[in-house]
Amino acid sequence: MFLFPTVGFGQFCPENLKTYSYENFLIKMLCLRNVGYSKDGRTILRSINMTFREGMSYSILGPNGAGKSTIARILMGELTPTEGQVLLDGKEVTGLGVTERTRRGISMTWQEPARYEGIRVREYLTLGGKLKIGEDEIRDVLELIGLSYEFYAGRFIDKSLSGGERKRIELASLLLLRPRYAILDEPDSGLDITAGELIEKLLARFRKTGTTVILITHHEEIAEKTDFAYFVCAGRLVKKGFSREVVDYYRKTCGRCLFVEGSP
Ligand code: ADP
Ligand code: MG
Repeated sequence: MFLFPTVGFGQFCPENLKTYSYENFLIKMLCLRNVGYSKDGRTILRSINMTFREGMSYSILGPNGAGKSTIARILMGELTPTEGQVLLDGKEVTGLGVTERTRRGISMTWQEPARYEGIRVREYLTLGGKLKIGEDEIRDVLELIGLSYEFYAGRFIDKSLSGGERKRIELASLLLLRPRYAILDEPDSGLDITAGELIEKLLARFRKTGTTVILITHHEEIAEKTDFAYFVCAGRLVKKGFSREVVDYYRKTCGRCLFVEGSP
């Protein structure tokens, strides 16, 4: 995995498979290249360069309001960046919406848990029967994310479920989908103190299925669990690297945006 220094988080974001023939076997990745996002005259993101290589796990760490969810929505195709490009396997996907990106293997759990109502957990997990999944698989993922199969599989998704339970069900659904890229926006929020343990289990399972994880969080102890991390603050990328290094830096700076004052 670590043969090349650029494997995890290099600047390199190739566009043309023919030109970069030596990189062909490394090219499976999702990239943001010089991405900026402004709304109503306000700059929310500027010059974001990020690389997410196949099979690795990444955190996007930063305080509230840093722009993390905006990055997630741009990766997912819910927002189009006002500057820069999104590349998937070297091809531009900047203008493609959520449906197209889902088709290409990018999936996401949102910061706010799903509001699906009136269907049973089992139906939700199998996309209404579209996913050919056996009961044993449903049991397996429900238990992995800490919900008992007997109690939850047949339950209706309605107001009787807590935010944390909905969140867990969404995570189970993503495990069953086995996307190429799983974007998890604050998966630990609304969960209890076992969140760290659950995140570890999720990462291990996604690693097994070869899914690249992009985990968004403002908790450094969660960010530490991925291979690589990006520290984002006030809409900019402050630091990237191995998660340990980035988290150390984050702790030293108390998550503050030291660079913002006086920088252009
Ligand atoms: P994070 O997920 O890191 O907490 P967000 O990406 O949600 O941050 O938000 C980044 C900044 O962009 C915040 O200051 C927020 O108020 C602003 N913002 C987010 N969504 C919108 C929107 N739809 N319209 C205007 N401003 C927004
Ligand atoms: Mg957010």
